Amino acid sequence: MKDLRENLAFPVLGERQIQRLRSIGTERTVEDGAILFAEGERGFDFYVVVSGRVEILEHSGGEARTVTIHEPGEFTGDVDMVTGRSALVTAVARGPTRLIAIPAAEIRRFVAEDPELGDTVLQGFMMRRTLLLDSGFSGVRVIGSRFSPDTVRLTQFLGRNGVPHTWLDVEEDTAADDLLRQFGVGPEEMPVVMMGDGRILHRPSLEEISERMGLSSPVGETDLADLLIVGAGPGGLAAAVYGASEGLRTVVLEASHPGGQAGGSTRIENYLGFPMGLSGAELTDRALLQAQRFGAEISVPREAVGLRLEPGRKTVRLADGSEVAGRSLIIATGADYRKPDIPCLTDFEGVGVYYAASEMEARMCRAGHAVIVGGGNSAGQAAVFLAQRLTRVIIAIRGDGLASSMSQYLLTRIEQTPNIEVLTRHVVVGLEGEAALQTVRLENRDTGEVRTEPASGLFVFIGAVPRTEWLEDRVETDEKGFVRTGSSLLAGRSEPPAAFGGLGRLPHPLETSVPGVFAVGDIRARSVKRVASAVGEGSMAVRFVHEYLARG
Ligand SMILES: Cc1cc2nc3c(=O)[nH]c(=O)nc-3n(C[C@H](O)[C@H](O)[C@H](O)COP(=O)(O)OP(=O)(O)OC[C@H]3O[C@@H](n4cnc5c(N)ncnc54)[C@H](O)[C@@H]3O)c2cc1C
Repeated sequence: MKDLRENLAFPVLGERQIQRLRSIGTERTVEDGAILFAEGERGFDFYVVVSGRVEILEHSGGEARTVTIHEPGEFTGDVDMVTGRSALVTAVARGPTRLIAIPAAEIRRFVAEDPELGDTVLQGFMMRRTLLLDSGFSGVRVIGSRFSPDTVRLTQFLGRNGVPHTWLDVEEDTAADDLLRQFGVGPEEMPVVMMGDGRILHRPSLEEISERMGLSSPVGETDLADLLIVGAGPGGLAAAVYGASEGLRTVVLEASHPGGQAGGSTRIENYLGFPMGLSGAELTDRALLQAQRFGAEISVPREAVGLRLEPGRKTVRLADGSEVAGRSLIIATGADYRKPDIPCLTDFEGVGVYYAASEMEARMCRAGHAVIVGGGNSAGQAAVFLAQRLTRVIIAIRGDGLASSMSQYLLTRIEQTPNIEVLTRHVVVGLEGEAALQTVRLENRDTGEVRTEPASGLFVFIGAVPRTEWLEDRVETDEKGFVRTGSSLLAGRSEPPAAFGGLGRLPHPLETSVPGVFAVGDIRARSVKRVASAVGEGSMAVRFVHEYLARG
């Protein structure tokens, strides 16, 4: 008997539904043992079992394990059919099996256009992923040391891009030693990544991992997207959902991982519709799936480093030297956390100094002590989260208290959490440690007295700087470097920006000093720095993109 979750994950389609799928697919019979798709493969077909059976296997633990067996009326696939990522499992026909095969692009279109059957399929895909992860699926295995910045970068990249993986820390995991010996991997070759299909990648770059896991849509250099979006934080993802769902060919370029700053938040409590709050990772996963379901093409890691503007064509230059162009452009590159002036800060980045507080960083701190620098809501959220996982958390602030900078609900939680200490009028003046951070020195601003606190983590949340370096001054910014849009471009001048002269119109709201180039979210001058406002602006901007594409 299937339980509720299994019923959602593996629904049996009715004859009418199968008939609809038959009309967009081709029917064929395969032999016993035929492999329909294998781990690591991309762009494989979606199959409905008409007769016979299809076994789903996974090899992440080193040996084949049956995940499920699809009976007649069931279908294959999981969320990666929608996202276009590489398969995590292998599908094998058991007995002579008759199938309806539908190409991946076709099923993506169908899921978006047929709400009834589309919902059944999508819900099945999502629940399958949940069941797979709950079943002990370990995904790709990363073997490396917690003291190695390359290992940290790799595991963060996989984690924040939602790639199932298990990290074996060579410092404490004996299984890691056994595996390294078994595969003859020396210390100089680490970190290594063991893929589900048995391939081993030595010290892979993020681009290589992205390529293998299928995290990037292949974006042609000569293609011209209707809408190009740079940055996949809440603002960029919202624009992608609206753009793609309204029929624009939408391409999103993201430097590191979708979700932006919000993706690093452990609990967003003020986002409409989620009374119990939700984590940034959850919000990101859902938004990403939604955007890709409508056909948005999302690529990571794709860092924009330059911009060229020609009539009807906005071209973004990427760090790897390639270029991507669009008829319109939305700038959604948000902001980055400011770095305090502390000696040796960068030496400890990734091995004790962090700019986000997620499970990953908490694990790096090994249940020890942490110091948080900053007094805003993000510092408060981090403190409450870390206090549940670490022995002690100190919030160090320059001022007299948190009341003026932090929401009341967080202040109350902090007061009620015995292992959080708020240290007012203190600044961090030094960091020490051998391979990783061990102690933090804090100076009292009034007395000059310095105290040394044990800490395996220093978490920095002290405000943000806009990520505009790639814009090469091609759009107007304010005195702090944030991008001006709409009516703020008209302040202090009698004429609209020169580029609007020939168009006979003023800039649309959210439009920059260049027609057809828009800015949304934290990067925008005078924006409200919140998830909901970034999402609202991303959605709204698409309406003005349509106007620009129609009328210039
Ligand atoms: C820890 C934390 C907790 C927070 N909690 C809350 C909360 O509870 N509620 C709330 O409302 N707000 C919260 N915020 C604020 C909120 O997250 C931001 O306002 C929101 O994420 C802004 O969205 P955005 O899309 O404008 O930019 P960002 O989230 O900054 O995203 C920008 C994206 O652009 C990418 N990018 C940057 N430069 C480039 C480039 N050159 N090429 C390609 N890609 C690039 C970045 O990698 C990033 O993914 C929190 C922020 C933090 C840091």
